[in-house]
Amino acid sequence: MQTHRLKSWVESANEPASDFPIQNLPFGVFRRKGAKEAPRGGVAIGDQILDLAAVGLKTGANLNKLAAAGRPGWRQLRQVLLLALSDKTKAKRFSRSLVPMNKAELFLPVAIGDYSDFFTGIHHALAAGRMFRPDNPLLPNYKWVPIGYHGRASSVVVSGTPVVRPNGQTKAPEAAAPTLGPSRRLDYEVELGFVIGPGNRLGQPVSIKHALDHVFGVVLLNDWSARDIQAWESQPLGPFLAKSFATTVSPWIVTLEALAPFRCPAFPRIGEDPRPLPHLTDEADQRKGGYAIGTEMYLQSAQMRARKVAPARLSRCSFRDAYWTPAQIVAHQTSNGCNLQPGDLLGSGTLSGTEPGSAGSLLELTQGGKAPLQLPGGETRAFIADGDELIQRGRCEAEGVVAIGFGEASGIVRPAP
Ligand code: CA
Repeated sequence: MQTHRLKSWVESANEPASDFPIQNLPFGVFRRKGAKEAPRGGVAIGDQILDLAAVGLKTGANLNKLAAAGRPGWRQLRQVLLLALSDKTKAKRFSRSLVPMNKAELFLPVAIGDYSDFFTGIHHALAAGRMFRPDNPLLPNYKWVPIGYHGRASSVVVSGTPVVRPNGQTKAPEAAAPTLGPSRRLDYEVELGFVIGPGNRLGQPVSIKHALDHVFGVVLLNDWSARDIQAWESQPLGPFLAKSFATTVSPWIVTLEALAPFRCPAFPRIGEDPRPLPHLTDEADQRKGGYAIGTEMYLQSAQMRARKVAPARLSRCSFRDAYWTPAQIVAHQTSNGCNLQPGDLLGSGTLSGTEPGSAGSLLELTQGGKAPLQLPGGETRAFIADGDELIQRGRCEAEGVVAIGFGEASGIVRPAP
């Protein structure tokens, strides 16, 4: 079905500023606020949620089964939903199954078994590398291997969940020994998360040609990071407690079907950049394996909230700045035979750009805390303060097609225990 001219009988979905026009149809898990009912699957349409039970789909409290159904099942469901939500003669029947979003509580959309985080933002890798190795910011493997580490799935939380400032071991350069205490360099990282659909069998790599068949959709992802804990613990095995205290994701999984109009070429290899190895190379992936997804981070301090000052935008990033495509990271992660499972989450890494204001973390924006940012109202921030709310948003826009959005991934920072 050609969808770019389609409108919904849910009027709020037709407003140009809506994140959830009928062209989007992202999936989430919800229940009515205060109701004694089980969380269940829904699809966002304008400012409403349609209960998936209305089209005969009983999901239970997570969307893992739907994720496992694979592309033919997702396409079929999308056709059913497009018809149900566009055909005015069906409005009476389906409007009974709508719940206003502001009266709904949203949950993690999938039960996440495993979470890996990559490092595909090359401008972030360069900026972070320059702080430690000014002459040699990128390590020699960067342009060959989609670098990543295994994160912690148990502390991935849905938007709106407060984030408790972590305690941890830190050591000032001049100190003789480390101390345990609240992180003083709490940061965010603007990322996207790819939600895995059907998995692969242990020992059977996914070929890059079929890699996207294993991706159900995309969420916003804030990889909260304690820079002082990270600096002391990361050698030699990489991030551990500096990252595992919380990772915030948005509640709506935007499908690759909805993102199809926003595909773009893979990050170009120019000059002496090595061409990826054959298992990471596919003609179609090179031509249109990227996604032009814009994502921004806003901060509203407790003082701004009290004075009703709107959140200030700190970062404006795009997945265009990722060196590796989603297909390449899936092919890479399974190339050793490691099995992915429905609901697994793969983070993109911080998506910094090259323009002013496009760095995706405070580490970069404030030059490691040396150049604090000015907030509206006169406060300054080198790193995140208690009471600050960080709000990530995302949107795709292109000529001639209806824009779609991701909603929000937000969290307020609470003091350390
Ligand atoms: Ca990260």
